[in-house]
Parts: sequence; C-alpha cells; structure tokens
Amino acid sequence: MDKSWITMPRNSPAYDHGVRNFIEFAFQHGSVNDMILCPCPKCGFRKHKTRAEVYDHLICKQFPKGYTVWYLHGELHPQQTNYVSSSVDVASQTNVGANDPIRDMVNDAFGVRNNN
Ligand SMILES: [Zn+2]
Repeated sequence: MDKSWITMPRNSPAYDHGVRNFIEFAFQHGSVNDMILCPCPKCGFRKHKTRAEVYDHLICKQFPKGYTVWYLHGELHPQQTNYVSSSVDVASQTNVGANDPIRDMVNDAFGVRNNN
C-alpha cells in the first residue's frame, strides 16, 4: 500500500486521496460500532470517531508521519515476532557488554573519593 502521502502537504490531492484510502482501510479492518480510533494529533489514537469526523480531523491536522504501519487499524505488523525477539537479544547482549566496565569505573571513582 502506498503511504508516501503521509508526508505530503495537507492541501495536496495526494494527501486527500491517501486520507480517504486510510479511512477505507481502517473501516474495513478495525472499526468498532462504525467508528475507528482517530490518529490525528488532537485525538492521539485515544478517541473513536466516525468516518466523517476522522476525515475532518485528518484534513485539519497532519496525519502522524511515523504511523506507517496501521496496526491499530487492522494492519498486521510485518515480522512482528521477529522484531520483538531480536530486540530482546540485542538488549541482553548490550547489557552484558556495557554494564560491567561502567560499574567498575563507577566503583573505582567512588572508591578513590572514599579513600581521600
Ligand atoms: Zn481526531
């Protein structure tokens, strides 16, 4: 799905077309009681709005530029499980490598001060 419109000016035809596409997608995949979570900066994904309201909000306020995978509106996150497990691996490896030398340095520093 083309999401390049997300970074385009709100008064451009591409942006308008993209907002309609998004609403169409969201109501097909993630609507509750004929409403979806409004992604506009004012609602911040916390308020459910009708089709017309969401369209109004996204024309008045810029669609969030970082929201390129619409997982709150029914789109599956690509490689979601891989992403989670690999980030945990990276974090644990980073802790093992980085914490011990830093802790030693801090201990050394305080040890020196305490002796003085
Ligand atoms: Zn809104």
